[in-house]
Amino acid sequence: MNRRNTTRIPVALAVGRCLWYHVASLCRAVDLVHVALISCTPNPEATIAAAARLSTSAIGATTLLKRMRPREVERLLAFLLRSGHLSPFEHASFTFAIEGISRVTSHQLVRHRIASYTQQSQRYVSLDELIYVTPPSIADRADMAERFRACVTNAHAVYRELAAAGVPGEDARYVLPNATETKLVMTMNARELMHACSLRLCLRAQWEIVRLFEHIKVEVDRVAPRIATELKPKCYNLGYCDEAETCGLLPTLP
Ligand SMILES: Cc1cc2nc3c(=O)[nH]c(=O)nc-3n(C[C@H](O)[C@H](O)[C@H](O)COP(=O)(O)OP(=O)(O)OC[C@H]3O[C@@H](n4cnc5c(N)ncnc54)[C@H](O)[C@@H]3O)c2cc1C
Repeated sequence: MNRRNTTRIPVALAVGRCLWYHVASLCRAVDLVHVALISCTPNPEATIAAAARLSTSAIGATTLLKRMRPREVERLLAFLLRSGHLSPFEHASFTFAIEGISRVTSHQLVRHRIASYTQQSQRYVSLDELIYVTPPSIADRADMAERFRACVTNAHAVYRELAAAGVPGEDARYVLPNATETKLVMTMNARELMHACSLRLCLRAQWEIVRLFEHIKVEVDRVAPRIATELKPKCYNLGYCDEAETCGLLPTLP
């Protein structure tokens, strides 16, 4: 039986529930995350298609790129995705300026190894003002939010005291919390973006990294809409949930 056909209706329902979940969570927290696509491979989708066509063509990629019509690009990308021939997707890269995420999330992000990262240094940039991320589960509760704010503010005050006493920034930073905001530049190719999104747009991933990859998807959509449609949780392709603890969007396997 074709799993794609059997799961079409649950996937549509899941999309609805997924949208509701994210709208609800966005309403509960101030979104500090900012993502800007600062550069990418020119004609990313045509470049992937030309690379794929080259493997069975007597002519070179430059000529193929000139001749290729949008419909053929679309057809080739669909074929590659259907058949799991994903290596041509590595020819399109995207560079993002990412700001307003916590160190918790940057730590999770850099676990994706097929990418390049440059992160603002806490050794060389002194944090005169502390910008930090408050999780919605804390922001939602006034008493806990106040405790959290006091703790973060205190940690920052100690950081400044240490710095004023001559402790180098590289050591004073040990006292800063995981909530501290960070900035980085990340370059990732389309294949790895699809892979990272399959894990990080899953609702079992943490809310902040889910939100980060939602922003990344919006940016990719501006220049490569066909690729952007492939930036989705893994269950959309599987047709079921393979997590030990499911969010309930799609059925688990018996
Ligand atoms: C919900 C969630 C919870 C998590 N919880 C934890 C946790 O508790 N503790 C923890 O340590 N991590 C945790 N992680 C991180 C996770 O284990 C991975 O490190 C992270 O998701 C990066 O993904 P990846 O390993 O697939 O590969 P990427 O680095 O994104 O690489 C992509 C793919 O390339 C291949 N590849 C890359 N490098 C190698 C290599 N050296 N050898 C062979 N193949 C390679 C693999 O096929 C890999 O899937 C969690 C991730 C998620 C999504």
